[in-house]
Amino acid sequence: MRRLSCVIAIVVSTALASAQRQAKTLDIYVVDVEGGNATLFVSPSGESLLIDAGNAGTGAARDASRIVDAAKDAGLTQLDHVVITHWHGDHYGGLSELASRIPIRHFIDHGANIQPTEATDAFLKTAYPALYAKATHTVAKAGDTIPFAGVNTRVIASAGQVIRTPLAGAGKPNPFCGPMKPLEAIPEDTQSVATYFTFGKFRALHPGDLTRDKEYELMCPMNRVGTIDVLVGPHHGQDTSNAEAFVHALQPRVVVMNNGTRKGGWPDVMKSFYTSPRFEDLWQLHFSLLSGQEYAAPGIFTANLVDEQPTALPVAPMPAPGANAPPPPVHNGRAYWVKVSAREDGTFTVTNARNGFSKEYR
Ligand SMILES: [Zn+2]
Ligand SMILES: [Zn+2]
Repeated sequence: MRRLSCVIAIVVSTALASAQRQAKTLDIYVVDVEGGNATLFVSPSGESLLIDAGNAGTGAARDASRIVDAAKDAGLTQLDHVVITHWHGDHYGGLSELASRIPIRHFIDHGANIQPTEATDAFLKTAYPALYAKATHTVAKAGDTIPFAGVNTRVIASAGQVIRTPLAGAGKPNPFCGPMKPLEAIPEDTQSVATYFTFGKFRALHPGDLTRDKEYELMCPMNRVGTIDVLVGPHHGQDTSNAEAFVHALQPRVVVMNNGTRKGGWPDVMKSFYTSPRFEDLWQLHFSLLSGQEYAAPGIFTANLVDEQPTALPVAPMPAPGANAPPPPVHNGRAYWVKVSAREDGTFTVTNARNGFSKEYR
C-alpha cells in the first residue's frame, strides 16, 4: 500500500509537471546562490536555459544542488542551454559541480577571460573544454539569437560589444541619458552576456553584471532595447550598474534582484528602481544590509533569511564592507527561489517560494 501511494505520488507529480506546461507559461526561477547568479528559464515545451551556475569553492556543491532543485521542480532532466555571463567565480564557479549532476547540452559564453586569475585561467584551460567536449559550445556575439524553443532570445551585449541596430520596435531617443557617473568597472563585468527574452507580449531582460558604461552604450542617446516587463538579476543591485539611463528607459514593472545579505541593494540603486516609470515591485533574494530597512522591500517580497536570523534588522543602510569587514551572515540552510510565470498575453505572476506569496501583474 505504501509503495502504491508512492507510485500515485510520482504519477501526480508528473501530471503536475505536464499540467504546468499545458498552462503555456514561460517560467523563470531566480535561484538563491548567495549573492552570485543562477537564473533558470523554462519554456512551455520544457526546453531550458540557465544563466550562470552559482559560486565556486565551498559554495559550489550547495549552489549546484539548489539549481538542480529548481530544474526538478520544472520537471527537467537536462539543461538545454547554459549561458555563463562572465568569468567571475560567483557566476561560473558552480559549473563543474552542476554538470556532474545534470546533463548540459549547450554552453554559451563571451569568449576569453580579460581579467586573469589563477583559478579561472586553470578552469578555462582544462575543466571547461572537457565539459563542452561532450556538448555544443558557442561564443556569443551581440545580436546573436539563442535557439530557445518558443522564446525569442537575443544577445544584446557580449564581450564588451552592444547591439548597434535597435531591437524591433525600439530605437527612440532616451530622455534619461544625463551625464554618466564616473565608474571604475571590474574588467570581466563589462564583458557580460546580456540577454533579452520575448515570449508573446511578455519581455524580460537579464543583463548579467553589465556595467554602467555599457548600459550607456546600449541605451544612449537612442534606446536600442525598448521597454520590458521584468528586469532579472541586475548585477545583484550594485551601483557600478543600474544607471537611471538604463533602468528608467527600460521601465520594468518588476525587478527581481539577485542580491546577497551583504552584497548589492545599494541605496542609489534602490532609488533608481523605486523612481522608475511604471515600476511596481522589487522582489529580493535576501534582505540587504546595504539597503537597510530604509530601502529594503517588505519581507513578503524577500525570499531568504539567514541561518541565524537576528531579532531585529537595522533601519539605516550599512556602509559597503571594506577589506577588513567581518564575514557576511551565513545562509547554507534551506533556500528559496523567486519564480516568475509569464503568459503570452504579457501578464505574469511572481511567487516567493518561502512564504507562498504570489502577485498577479495584469
Ligand atoms: Zn541565501
Ligand atoms: Zn556578479
